[in-house]
Amino acid sequence: TAGLSQADPDVFAAIERERGRQTDGLELIASENYTSAAVMEAQGTCLTNKYAEGYPGRRYYGGCEYVDQIENLARDRAKELFGAEHANVQPHAGSQANFAAFSAILKPGETFLAMDLAHGGHLTHGMHLNVSGQFFKPVHYGVRQSDHRIDFDQVAALAKEHKPKMIVAGASAYPREIEHARFAEIAEEVGAKLLVDMAHYSGLVAAKLHDDPVNVADVVTSTTHKTLRGPRSGVILCREELAKAIDRQVFPGSQGGPLMHAVAGKAVCFREALQPEFKQYAQQVLDNAQALGEALAAGGVTLVSGGTDNHLLLCDVTAVGTTGKIAEKALDAAGVTVNKNMIPFDPRKPMDPSGIRFGTAALTTRGMKQDEMKRVAAWVLEVLANPEDEALIKRTHEAVTEFTRNYPVPGVSAVGETK
Ligand code: PLP
Repeated sequence: TAGLSQADPDVFAAIERERGRQTDGLELIASENYTSAAVMEAQGTCLTNKYAEGYPGRRYYGGCEYVDQIENLARDRAKELFGAEHANVQPHAGSQANFAAFSAILKPGETFLAMDLAHGGHLTHGMHLNVSGQFFKPVHYGVRQSDHRIDFDQVAALAKEHKPKMIVAGASAYPREIEHARFAEIAEEVGAKLLVDMAHYSGLVAAKLHDDPVNVADVVTSTTHKTLRGPRSGVILCREELAKAIDRQVFPGSQGGPLMHAVAGKAVCFREALQPEFKQYAQQVLDNAQALGEALAAGGVTLVSGGTDNHLLLCDVTAVGTTGKIAEKALDAAGVTVNKNMIPFDPRKPMDPSGIRFGTAALTTRGMKQDEMKRVAAWVLEVLANPEDEALIKRTHEAVTEFTRNYPVPGVSAVGETK
């Protein structure tokens, strides 16, 4: 049969252009990473063809003996990696993991407490247009204006006032380590369950370089494609006592057949994260975030909370005379991919906020270290200072492309070559 380039030249060409973008640019989106070639290969297999509703040994379809082996490997490895009593590896993504976990704990209309989207929370934590905000009743906590750290006094006060059934910890744009035990104490005081969404920092938890929420929280959800460096997907970890409720809310509660190619990708990713090299990788992610933050701050950018403990930096770029929207566009044109982001207490609007979010997980996978972060920061600062200077942006783009040639991207070879 014809390969993709012949069967569908249009899709093939667009994928090739994306492959070029991924290899020739600097990927600084904090929620992205590059999977290994093995994860990529597992995903592009015949598992795509298989229906496997149910769980290993209890499926609604025949022919599941091999996919059962794969899901068992993924489950066992997830449990080993995170020291969890139970793992559900079927959520299609982080949002599906959260919805299943929410609906295992809450009935429609019940109250939960979570971080404000405008302070770094995720839209699945109660944004009004998201199902979490439509089916359940969110109350939001935030960070202190003085130091941009989670305001635990506010968390405790809101918990006492609103008596939520569930408290959610975890965020998408919070550069500091989250102290899960403090959330657990507050949850216990008011009789709420604690859900930790460690989507962003699960790779750091796996490497034991971040406060560990597993067995502190009742339920832990995560994506698998950020610092954990696996396929685009989700996972739920919990204590045995909640295992049945979680499994039921994933299937049949909110999903049909699992994406078995993604489950295989997760199995491979968990095995990789169990290797000693992964810990070195995660440490380098942290070291790179420190180096990038120091260099950006030295150039006049304001770091929200004054720095970072994890893989991400939230920067107020109005300090160097630009805005999030202008900065994102100018950096993109220079081959540097980031996203604009609200900063806490942002006086500007979501579509043109004050901030830019940077993350070091992807560039670290390419083998970049602190020196490279200084180089990257210098380019970023030049573009931020001159976002309208087309000649500078063009020159920067060329320099970036030249530079990235020395840092191969695992798993991203030409279409059809990953096998
Ligand atoms: N939870 C958090 C904290 C996230 O940052 C994200 C994604 O950015 C998600 C959940 C949702 O993950 P997905 O995009 O895979 O649905």
